Amino acid sequence: MLDNCIYVSGARERNLKNIHIKIPKKRITVFTGVSGSGKSSLVFDTIAAESQRQLNETYNSFIRHRMPHYGKPDVDRIENLSVAFVMNQKRLGGNARSTVGTVTDIYSLLRLLFSRIGKPFVGYSDVFSFNNPVGMCNTCQGLGEIETIDIERLLDKNRSLSEGAVRFPTFEPGGWRLTRYIYSGFFDNDKKIQDYSNEALDLLLYADKIKVKNPTTEWHKTSLYEGLIPRIQRSFLKKEDGEKVKYSKDIKNFVIKQSCPLCHGARLNDKVLSCKVHEKNIVECTDMQVVNLLEFVQTIHVPVAATIISELINRLEHMVTIGLGYLSLNRETATLSGGESQRIKMVRQLGNSLTDLTYIFDEPSIGLHPYDISKINTLMKLLRDKGNTVLIVEHDPDIIKIADHIVDMGPGAGTQGGQILYEGDLKGLEEANTLTGRYLSYQPKLKQSVRMPKGWLSIQNAKLHNLKNISVEIPKGVMTVVTGVAGSGKSTLINQVLPQFYPEIIFIDQNGVPASKRSNIATYTGIFDIIRKLFATQNGVNASLFSFNSKGACPACKGLGVTYTDLAFMDTIVTMCEECNGNRFNDEVLQYKLRGKNISEVLKMTVGEALNFFYEKAISKVIKRLSDIGIDYISLGQPLNTLSGGELQRIKLASELENDGQIYVLDEPSTGMHMADIKQLIGVLEHLVEQNSTLIVIEHNLTVICQADWIIDLGPNAGGNGGRIMFSGLPKDLIENHESLTGRCLAQYIK
Ligand code: ADP
Ligand code: ADP
Ligand code: ZN
Ligand code: ZN
Repeated sequence: MLDNCIYVSGARERNLKNIHIKIPKKRITVFTGVSGSGKSSLVFDTIAAESQRQLNETYNSFIRHRMPHYGKPDVDRIENLSVAFVMNQKRLGGNARSTVGTVTDIYSLLRLLFSRIGKPFVGYSDVFSFNNPVGMCNTCQGLGEIETIDIERLLDKNRSLSEGAVRFPTFEPGGWRLTRYIYSGFFDNDKKIQDYSNEALDLLLYADKIKVKNPTTEWHKTSLYEGLIPRIQRSFLKKEDGEKVKYSKDIKNFVIKQSCPLCHGARLNDKVLSCKVHEKNIVECTDMQVVNLLEFVQTIHVPVAATIISELINRLEHMVTIGLGYLSLNRETATLSGGESQRIKMVRQLGNSLTDLTYIFDEPSIGLHPYDISKINTLMKLLRDKGNTVLIVEHDPDIIKIADHIVDMGPGAGTQGGQILYEGDLKGLEEANTLTGRYLSYQPKLKQSVRMPKGWLSIQNAKLHNLKNISVEIPKGVMTVVTGVAGSGKSTLINQVLPQFYPEIIFIDQNGVPASKRSNIATYTGIFDIIRKLFATQNGVNASLFSFNSKGACPACKGLGVTYTDLAFMDTIVTMCEECNGNRFNDEVLQYKLRGKNISEVLKMTVGEALNFFYEKAISKVIKRLSDIGIDYISLGQPLNTLSGGELQRIKLASELENDGQIYVLDEPSTGMHMADIKQLIGVLEHLVEQNSTLIVIEHNLTVICQADWIIDLGPNAGGNGGRIMFSGLPKDLIENHESLTGRCLAQYIK
């Protein structure tokens, strides 16, 4: 009996109320509950963290000393735990050498196939790798594209070197790289570039290494002078790390990417490309959509390669099952969405033969149309049937329904949550009187009366990616929901094409705000400045004392309260600052109070608590808005980088609430939200439309779709089989449309 379950006893991490729980092994368990109820604290911060920690203990001391020291989660005991893999939505990212084919290992099978049966035979499977000098195209080094420097953008020809003619950090006046040019003796440092002779310009831009005397070095040695272009290429373009990453924004300003003139993106050299299987070379295979590649591989019958072929078919079928058949193997992982990345990680796991692992999923429904969800469900069942334990944090009713076991948490968020309300099967949950239980049987209806368009935004002849030269009109002054299966072209149309026609659009996405680790809700919304002033006036000291940059801030963590350890091969580790115990400021600053609380205590207050603490208008109105978007449980000082994408998106929404007449685009705002939270979201969206704004929402959630004034549906399917407008019109008419997958799902849902 004991072997059949994972036992957690006395879990107290974050808001968990000393809970005990028994999770069946080799089954699918779904964790439900409103946001902030403690699902992640239990599943990720307790179970996954403890598994990771115990795994680290098994390494020898040499490795262990180089690993982060995971704090032990606040839990009495966890028994029967197996190795846990977390499958989150973190994008795969990666450099240009990382493709769908390489990360799923399907490309290495394909290479093997070509090396066994390709004609003519060119060598071992390694030569088919674009990361191998023997196989790669020499012009682009296997990248498929080349980067060239646009000199017009790099140089401001109206300026001289000493006036900052080179528009790039470290080459600007005072920058250390410029010194070598200034002291080379080759140039008149005060002459505008446009007045240079051709020879001088050549020397500045292209010269190969030349020895020069360097008067800035005390030892009067010679040093090497090199033209700007080779210099920049050497330090910034040919590398994948260090300064290339640090200055990537600046580099984008003057570097143009072009398809490689020699291999035209194929990445491999002619010799390798001449090797063919059934008339196709390896690049023609990786260019195909996976569905088509699967069909092609199924036509190959060569006994010596039978094992490779069947393994290849097996993996490609997984890709199709999971709804990624529209991708090609050569697609760079850095261009995949979060949902696609998560599903790719699944394919990788299905390929291994390990069993008795614990797979932990963070909202696998993200990015998926109701139609796609059945596919991902199939895969999670496959993982279970291989003998693994599957834990899923999820709000989507269609995924909740495949659970063998459900754990419902709540009742509220933050300190109001952290308890287990229900454990058992689906039927029991439907009858249990919890928020989740009640919402499961909730049946939304289409909105009674829709708003009338106040004009149109028109897109003409869109052809990007898979779009089939489409034209469409989007109504102004109403809420339009854009639907369609994953990969049908929604983001391409709305996030990429629409702004070419209407640059004034405001995107409210789930991406992190480009700010430092020091940003939190209080700084982001601007109330921290007001709070600092209140502290200053109250205590007769300077407001700057309470700033994270001041000398009042803890020197060890510079006011963060936590320290970060960066690891190349794992996620960054965050630990509480040992110097200030997470209080952020030194003892002197902490003695100053505002109505009995010091600055650290104020930052630890939740939005809900702050609502009762602050009556100053400028602060309370902001806090009220944060409360309205349903984040009562988040503390004012919680860093923005610890918030979920959905929470961040709603915070961005809240900061728009006072504007009117704008055009907003939102990509899956329901992500991370319990059905109860979605009600709140809809309230905010309605509010924005009432302010005369135009709202365009990409969404799969049927409750949100039901709120639309207008629906645009893309399809009929994904990738090459998508990219058409299936429907554009009133929601009630979509239900009648049986061609559209969305129409069919919607009709079933609202019955
Ligand atoms: P759920 O996964 O159900 O949305 P969580 O486990 O993420 O809930 O959150 C439970 C509580 O812990 C909430 O009050 C939340 O604000 C808090 N919390 C989550 N992450 C952090 C963090 N990095 N720092 C401080 N508090 C956090
Ligand atoms: P959706 O938003 O409906 O999920 P997308 O617009 O992301 O669909 O994708 C539509 C098609 O365009 C898919 O076949 C996808 O693989 C392709 N695609 C999307 N982004 C890129 C990109 N950066 N490069 C190449 N193809 C892309
Ligand atoms: Zn090339
Ligand atoms: Zn500190």
